[in-house]
Amino acid sequence: MSRIVMKFGGTSVANLECIRNVALRVKKEVDQGNQVSVFVSAMAGTTDKLVGWVEEISPLHDAREYDTVVSAGEQITSGLLALALQDIGVPARSWLGWQVPFKTNQAHSAAQVEEIEIEGLTERLIEGTVCVIAGFQGISIDNRITTLGRGGSDTSAVALAAAIGANRCDIYTDVEGVFTADPRIVPSAQKLEKVTYEEMLEMASLGAKVLQTRSVVMAMNHKVRVQVLSSFTDKPGTLLIDEDEIVENKIVSGITYAKNEAQVMLVGVKNNPGIASDVFKGLANENINVDMIIQNETEGGRKTDITFTVAENDAAKAEKILNEADNIDFKKLITDMNVAKISVIGVGMRSHSGVAATMFETLADRGINIQVISTSEIKISVLIEAAYTELAVRSLHTAYGLDSK
Ligand code: ADP
Ligand code: ASP
Ligand code: MG
Repeated sequence: MSRIVMKFGGTSVANLECIRNVALRVKKEVDQGNQVSVFVSAMAGTTDKLVGWVEEISPLHDAREYDTVVSAGEQITSGLLALALQDIGVPARSWLGWQVPFKTNQAHSAAQVEEIEIEGLTERLIEGTVCVIAGFQGISIDNRITTLGRGGSDTSAVALAAAIGANRCDIYTDVEGVFTADPRIVPSAQKLEKVTYEEMLEMASLGAKVLQTRSVVMAMNHKVRVQVLSSFTDKPGTLLIDEDEIVENKIVSGITYAKNEAQVMLVGVKNNPGIASDVFKGLANENINVDMIIQNETEGGRKTDITFTVAENDAAKAEKILNEADNIDFKKLITDMNVAKISVIGVGMRSHSGVAATMFETLADRGINIQVISTSEIKISVLIEAAYTELAVRSLHTAYGLDSK
């Protein structure tokens, strides 16, 4: 007998017919003698609608009330799935985050799971009840509902799988697995049979929203056997693996894009030692995450230009901090929201050269200008004008030989 965790995303529970279909999938696992915990997201579009309401009624909303509202969608689907299971003869009950409880820190809207009390759930699992749990939500030390950030049901599922030592954590979604690029913009993208935790982590954090980044970190740290697969077909999905399990050594595994970045350029900064530290410390103190950075000297070293990227919704705050900082002397501050970050990812890069050259050449051939570059051992990212996103991703996909035959 295995202990398994299943998670169904918004499209998989979009309406009652979908929920009945999910119930049948869960039943199949129960019929094979497995102990099953199931996480559900809100019905597709529901969380967006709830977020919209919060923003409309209170643009500068209290994050605790934001969480109260946006966590509501998962309450409905968890109850409905428990009912659909009972209806086909499968013993089931629903749990909200606070009922488990899923204990998190107090970082409302982006809370981190700290501890899951599994006793109540495991008792029910052992007696043969399917535990249907609302994803995305938890409870903080001061008894307030928290949410784990958009896409957070993935993390709920992986966290429980780690806590109960599940044999498998199956993430069901609306595509057949993890692809070499977002199949919605690259029709020739191929499903990856396997992808390493590290590559998946880069892909998720660089824009492939198929798994929430934190869920991959958690899976990697706790060695959770995660599989991504479709709730609409019976095809095998993508398995997350360790690097030493790789058989076929591809150089590039995936191409991603992210359009939610902004480029900030400080032009003509007075070039004193410690200037970069002043700029980035000021931003860090206000919890602004900086991603790509370039700095180059001008005017024979007397001045410097510092360019970096931040999340689009931090751009205004970053501008304000820099404009108000009296220890930073610069000529001009230019912010560009019209950018996209395109990344090429693959563990094979560790042992192969020429990956960056291919990327730059491919973009140059299409007349796409590169504004900023950043690299790590297994990825290269470039910032380009947002209008070229699709063209860049498709061209790179072809250039690295990833197109399906
Ligand atoms: P769910 O609601 O099931 O959590 P998401 O919308 O969060 O689903 O994630 C699935 C979506 O991720 C897919 O519909 C697909 O468009 C997108 N996606 C982006 N990049 C990739 C990729 N490399 N492989 C698969 N899906 C991707
Ligand atoms: N419903 C939440 C969201 O849309 C959580 C999730 O689906 O994972 O972000
Ligand atoms: Mg998701």
